[in-house]
This record gives sequence, structure tokens and C-alpha cells, in this order.
Amino acid sequence: MSVLKYAPEALKNLFRAPVTTSYPAKPFEYKERTRGRIEISINDCIGCSMCVKACPSSALAVDKNAGTWTINRFDCIACGYCVEKCPKKCLSMQQNYQEPEGEKTSVTYQKSPEVLAEEARKREEAAAKAKAAMEAKKAAEAAAAAAGGAEAKGE
Ligand code: SF4
Ligand code: SF4
Repeated sequence: MSVLKYAPEALKNLFRAPVTTSYPAKPFEYKERTRGRIEISINDCIGCSMCVKACPSSALAVDKNAGTWTINRFDCIACGYCVEKCPKKCLSMQQNYQEPEGEKTSVTYQKSPEVLAEEARKREEAAAKAKAAMEAKKAAEAAAAAAGGAEAKGE
């Protein structure tokens, strides 16, 4: 009786594809939503630190001036909050896992010298523009004040 009860299932399984894979002969395929390791396109980072503020395990550090982004992979719990919060979308959740290491160390990524130089040039350009605009405003205010003074004297 009990054999007959399971016979249909046994017959179905005879013709089903195996649910297991022949790893390592066939590489493992990670699912789309696998939470592996965080990676960064460092040259797109603007150093806003939104990822640092979002990280619940304090695994991240950012130095905007030095153009660096640091992660302690041992502290990271792969929650993905930093990826969600990054306004530049330069963080991503990779589907592979970190290599095992013997020591708890951090990994620091740094922008290329060309990108850092370009950013410094843009900052200087913006500062020069702001200074010129401020001087023009002051000159206009001084001219308006002088014109107002002359009118008051009836010149
Ligand atoms: S995935 Fe989560 S724990 Fe890991 S660095 Fe991002 S915010 Fe922090
Ligand atoms: S949130 Fe994105 S852009 Fe901002 S510091 Fe982090 S990685 Fe860089």
C-alpha cells in the first residue's frame, strides 16, 4: 500500500532533471539577488559619504580630499544599504564572495591621479568664478551706493 502511494512521485522523479548540479565540474551559477561583495567604480565617487552614514556595521570610510573609499570586508554584513543610498550609483553588489583572509584588514580604493587632477582643476575653476561673481556684486553695490549719494546731494 505504502509503495503504491509513492509510486507516482517516484515515476515523475525518474524523468525530471536533477535538482543538484555537478559542481565543481560545472561552475556554480549565483542567483540574480545573491549578496556577495560590494565593489566600487571609484572614479565615479563624489565622496559624499552617504554610504558611510547608511552602513549599519561601520564598515566604510571615505576621504573626499584624498579621493579614497575604504571597506572592511570582515565588518560588512552585505545588507546592500550603501548600494541603495549611493547617489552616483557607483557601488554594486557583486555575486561573488570575498577570498578568505587570515587577518582583519581593510581595502582602500583610490581615484586615479588624472581624475583627482581634473577634480582639483574644476574646484579651482568654480572658486575663481565664485570670487569673480562676488567682486562684481561688490562693485555693483558700490556703484549703486555712489549713485545714491550723488542723487541725495542733488548733483
Ligand atoms: S553592504 Fe551593508 S554592511 Fe556592507 S558596506 Fe554596505 S552598508 Fe555596510
Ligand atoms: S555614496 Fe557613493 S558617491 Fe557617495 S561616497 Fe559613497 S560611494 Fe562615493
